[in-house]
Amino acid sequence: MTGAKLRVAAYCRVSTSQDDQRNSLENQRRYFAEYIGSQPDWELARVYADEGLSGTAARNRPAFQQMLSAAEEGEIDLILTKEVSRFARNTVDALACTRRLRRYGVGVVFINDGIDTRQNDGEFRLTIMASVAQEESRKTSERVKWGQRRSMENGVVFGCNNIYGFSLLHGRLTVKEDEAEVIRLVYRKFLNEGKGTFVIARELSESGVEPPRAKGKPWSSTMVLRLLRNEKYCGDLLQKKSYTPDFLDHKKQVNRGEEEQIYLRDHHEPIVPRAVFEQAQQELARRAPAGAQGRRCVRRYWCSGKLICAACGRRFVPRRRRRAGGEVYRYWVCAARGRHGPRHTDGRETPDGCDMRMMPHQALCTCMDVVVERLGLDVGRLIRETAELVEQAEDGGVPVALERLRERRQRVLQRRGDALDAWLGHSITKEELDSLRARYDAALARLDGQERTLEAQWQAARTGDGRTALRAFLETEALRCEAVYGELLEQMRIGEGGVLVRLRGLAVTFRLQYAPPRRGAGLRPEDIRCTLLPDT
Ligand SMILES: [Zn+2]
Repeated sequence: MTGAKLRVAAYCRVSTSQDDQRNSLENQRRYFAEYIGSQPDWELARVYADEGLSGTAARNRPAFQQMLSAAEEGEIDLILTKEVSRFARNTVDALACTRRLRRYGVGVVFINDGIDTRQNDGEFRLTIMASVAQEESRKTSERVKWGQRRSMENGVVFGCNNIYGFSLLHGRLTVKEDEAEVIRLVYRKFLNEGKGTFVIARELSESGVEPPRAKGKPWSSTMVLRLLRNEKYCGDLLQKKSYTPDFLDHKKQVNRGEEEQIYLRDHHEPIVPRAVFEQAQQELARRAPAGAQGRRCVRRYWCSGKLICAACGRRFVPRRRRRAGGEVYRYWVCAARGRHGPRHTDGRETPDGCDMRMMPHQALCTCMDVVVERLGLDVGRLIRETAELVEQAEDGGVPVALERLRERRQRVLQRRGDALDAWLGHSITKEELDSLRARYDAALARLDGQERTLEAQWQAARTGDGRTALRAFLETEALRCEAVYGELLEQMRIGEGGVLVRLRGLAVTFRLQYAPPRRGAGLRPEDIRCTLLPDT
């Protein structure tokens, strides 16, 4: 039934420099092949690659143009690309391209930004990301270079030379292909075949694969779990650094010898695609016994699930309290503290609770205000422009894609009939007829599926569901900011007297420091000192 699969193309920018193997064509190809392979109903149509890395630099993009033609010819159903910033030169460009593709029934998935233009809010989110990327690209291209150039001091891997799947040479991690194959196999067994860590360990031992570091011994489920949890396999590096005394510092932490951790994204060549790694983390959390982390994923706020306690690594959870005047006061608290109170041992070995203070919701908003201002983003203008762009959408007439699909369906039906005639006329055998019919039926099933999706999209656009949502969204200033902040924020680590703000799609981290606000007083932007961390 291969005919029923979605034909997926990938678009990337590649580097031809010897020093930049991470962005080599070969690596990108492998990345997309793995990614597409992890989706059961997708098949790789082709990888389109243009040279040059920056989204703003490229003028002529021959592969990109070829891909657009292939889409128009109906040769592909979906396009995968890593980031908005690599796909288009600017907002208008991004929107024009994705709209043109949509007319031909081709969706675009931006993997790192988590945007899918086939979804209702896809276009809107794309516009915001593209606007932000454009602005950011202009403002900080000199300083940050899109996170591509990493300072050596930051990127150097210290210590242990026995990371399974990698070898460590002059502080840099390079993939060991034979071990990398085992790691990919583990992820496939876990995600695609739904096997648990015990079964995977047994199967690996049975097939005679040497386990990490324990030659001759069998694999254990802990070893398998380590492979599934290690962030190095998706190209990141969690680096422990000693404390910066003026930041996230409080005495008890130092006494406990806890260390600040720095998370470097896209630090080295990955062994599994980020999406696969993230899928595995979600799957691990899902399969974990209920209540293990006590984490109910309710996405109610722009920052839900994105606030991490710097002291204990747990998530912050939302709380609310009604004040005497009847006004609702919202704040966030470390889950460990919320559940078990301040840190205590009660004579047991592992302590419970956490000493991290609560964080008012208002203070989080102020932190993001400061970051957005620092980025030079005018949120009001950004929203106005976005609204104008989205409003300009013309949705008249049956889309070309639908008409084309119907023509293709007609042609397949015709050929199916021809095959029957050929058999009746004794020019093909019964086996040949059956195999032809199976092929045509699969093609018809695929076309029917596409037609249903397209029609639904077209109807949604016509009834204006998307636009109503947009208008509602634009109505209040607070809501606008929340949506933009939700779009921008990847993670915020909250410490005493400061936070680290990691932005999505921009590969930048800001450090915000402030004196703990006095009781009853809110955090004001002028109380915050904001610095851009170098290339993390
Ligand atoms: Zn905590």
